[in-house]
Amino acid sequence: MTRAPSPELLSALEALLGPKGFTDDADTMAPWLTDWRGKYHGAAAAMLSPASTDEVSAIVRLCAEAGAAIVPQGGNSGMVGGATPDVSGTQFLLSMRRMNKIRSIGRDSGFAVVEAGVILEHFHEAALAQGLRFPLTLGGKGSATIGGLVSTNAGGTQVLRHGTMRALVAGIEAVLPDGSVFHGLAPLKKDNRGYDLRHLLCGAEGTLGIITAACLRLVPAAAARRTAWIGLKSPDDALLLLRQLDGAIGRELEGFEIVPHTCLDAVLRHVPQTRAPLGDHHPWYALVELAGDNGDTLDTALQAELAAALDAQLIGDAAIAKSDRESEDFWRLRDSISEAERAEGPAIQHDISVPVDLMPSFIADNAKRLADTFPGVRALSFGHLGDGNVHHHVQPPIDSDGAAWLAAHGQAASRLVYTHVIELGGSISAEHGIGQMKRDILAELDSPARLAALYGVKNGLDPKRLFNPGKLIA
Ligand SMILES: Cc1cc2nc3c(=O)[nH]c(=O)nc-3n(C[C@H](O)[C@H](O)[C@H](O)COP(=O)(O)OP(=O)(O)OC[C@H]3O[C@@H](n4cnc5c(N)ncnc54)[C@H](O)[C@@H]3O)c2cc1C
Repeated sequence: MTRAPSPELLSALEALLGPKGFTDDADTMAPWLTDWRGKYHGAAAAMLSPASTDEVSAIVRLCAEAGAAIVPQGGNSGMVGGATPDVSGTQFLLSMRRMNKIRSIGRDSGFAVVEAGVILEHFHEAALAQGLRFPLTLGGKGSATIGGLVSTNAGGTQVLRHGTMRALVAGIEAVLPDGSVFHGLAPLKKDNRGYDLRHLLCGAEGTLGIITAACLRLVPAAAARRTAWIGLKSPDDALLLLRQLDGAIGRELEGFEIVPHTCLDAVLRHVPQTRAPLGDHHPWYALVELAGDNGDTLDTALQAELAAALDAQLIGDAAIAKSDRESEDFWRLRDSISEAERAEGPAIQHDISVPVDLMPSFIADNAKRLADTFPGVRALSFGHLGDGNVHHHVQPPIDSDGAAWLAAHGQAASRLVYTHVIELGGSISAEHGIGQMKRDILAELDSPARLAALYGVKNGLDPKRLFNPGKLIA
């Protein structure tokens, strides 16, 4: 249990940060005390907004001496309540949004040093202006910050080729729980000094350190991009198509998403100005994206592969976007699934992964297990098949009171999903993290050996448990 901050601590923090960096005004803090999904609501003793690494370090030293807890926050676009303080009003919300400088972009080195509060979309634009690209993107790019993306080891739609955030982080600067600064920004190709603190901080959800800056890998800006919307019969066929494309044009293959017809139908029903790319109806769709140096080469390769897949009856039909605008329209269908789902009514979301080859059978078997246990329930799976990660959503029976059904059966339905995922050696959180949403189920279902190691790391680095208490592990 953390202590309520004393008036002396509040005064010291106010004096340190000045009016731009310190507020305890309820109205100013309010938007940042509820998570993006609106599921978690917290309170804070004050919101602290440092403008430099030195200020973060000074805040942490003062809080550590006083035993006060800190909840780091970037863009507050996280999906698991990780950046929302508890309701006690004793914790400090540490907003990193004022640390928003891009310290350097090395056109020749291919590395950029970026402060934690830089918004992903702004970083994309800055890299592009140098003829470079940061190859990680996601639906929340207009809000998500580099610190949040590192701390959740975010994924997105280009993981297939470029990996998750961890693969793109070449160095980290962070403030540790005693206020000391870990200076690890140098992009060393080789470094065998034991445990890799950089990797430990990626995905730590603010429980081990406050990321103040990261050194990030860049790739050359893609000269050409091709997007195809493909109709097919099943996730099994989608996996075969993925293997075919990977074998033939794997170097250019950036994204491979699957969408069931139920999700497309919901998008077309609820999201204005959307239209189906194909004339006929198909049970499933794949959204494929290639990026490369030469548009003609991409066209030739993609057309040849899709023609071969049609001949083999692996796919039913396909449309290749004829312009950037049309490509954006295809992606909008995929990115609007959550919005359409909200309009359809309540659902439980599971962001899970299993080995890629097992995903088609997981999708079919789990829908059956759910239907056998909870008659009338509907299971939807969509997303990053290429990464073995789908968003597996459970919707209450059509004729039920959705909210009441979820209150009565939601937890049991989630446990069924997660138990199946673990049977297959998968993960109950593929990209969103654990936060407060999955903390208890992680403690219940994860292996004792792994949990003991997580607790050991946490207790070693943050023995007073002042960094983001109650998140990830209790
Ligand atoms: C529409 C939409 C689509 C999304 N799509 C995807 C997707 O495809 N893939 C995906 O992975 N995620 C996705 N997300 C989730 C979200 O964007 C990511 O989790 C993102 O990394 C969160 O960044 P943030 O700056 O908003 O972090 P926040 O929500 O503010 O914080 C997230 C976690 O990181 C910690 N944290 C934040 N900043 C720091 C810091 N500087 N130091 C230490 N800890 C810190 C917080 O304490 C919290 O635990 C999506 C979100 C939205 C709204």
